[in-house]
Amino acid sequence: MNNAKYQPNLVERAGQWLRFMIERPSVLYEPEDEAAWGRCSLCAWESQEKIERCALCGWPIHLRGERLQRELSKLIRRALLRDTRLVARLKDEIPWLPDDVVCRQFTGPLAWLDAVWRRAGKPPGRPYDPARHWRIVAAMEMLMQTHAPSPTEEGEPLFDGDIQGTRPARAGELKLVPCGYGLMLREAVGVLSGKLFTPGPIPSRRDGIARPVLTGELLNSIGRALQKQLGYRLGREEVFRSWRWGRQLRGSAPARWSGSRVRAR
Ligand SMILES: [Zn+2]
Repeated sequence: MNNAKYQPNLVERAGQWLRFMIERPSVLYEPEDEAAWGRCSLCAWESQEKIERCALCGWPIHLRGERLQRELSKLIRRALLRDTRLVARLKDEIPWLPDDVVCRQFTGPLAWLDAVWRRAGKPPGRPYDPARHWRIVAAMEMLMQTHAPSPTEEGEPLFDGDIQGTRPARAGELKLVPCGYGLMLREAVGVLSGKLFTPGPIPSRRDGIARPVLTGELLNSIGRALQKQLGYRLGREEVFRSWRWGRQLRGSAPARWSGSRVRAR
């Protein structure tokens, strides 16, 4: 493992090993008895004689248990010094494995990985970036807008919520006029996350709020333009996350003061 020619690939190799031991934890287990030493820790093929490598899968028979754990511990520590995002990236590659399941493998010399693994943030490689989330929030609001404030003329009939009725407006008072694409939340998330809408007219809103006639072609082209502006491809989860975060910050002063971060869920 310390061979100099592997040095440039240190991070990559450490990542492969880490994934390997998570997905094939049997290589980490210490043999239970004498007989287990002749059994391949990877494929469980059993040899009658003493051999170096498994005749079936080629795995080095003695590379297992605590000896392997110690080697891996050193390798991963060195790799993490070079690339601190290693664990976070790997975590993103195998999102279907919950932390508790993965961390069960981190015992003995590898126990320190438990905390590193749980701490590693998602999404990987992307530090907390409020500007990025606000851009998503702003795009969502633009897509979902149904009304916009507009100044009234003197004497124009204006609905007043306080009296639950209409009265003549004073000049310059604001009224809400229908404006914007009026997308529903799910549609807006679809547009931003690159969903392809079927060409042709999009059905109107189920809640009856008026909106302009929209077509699949239009939504697809808006989606492409927005993604280009944002400069990266968005996932549905990320759009939802940013949207919820934005609404929370707008709606709650304590959340603003505490500098609340975008949560995974
Ligand atoms: Zn084998």
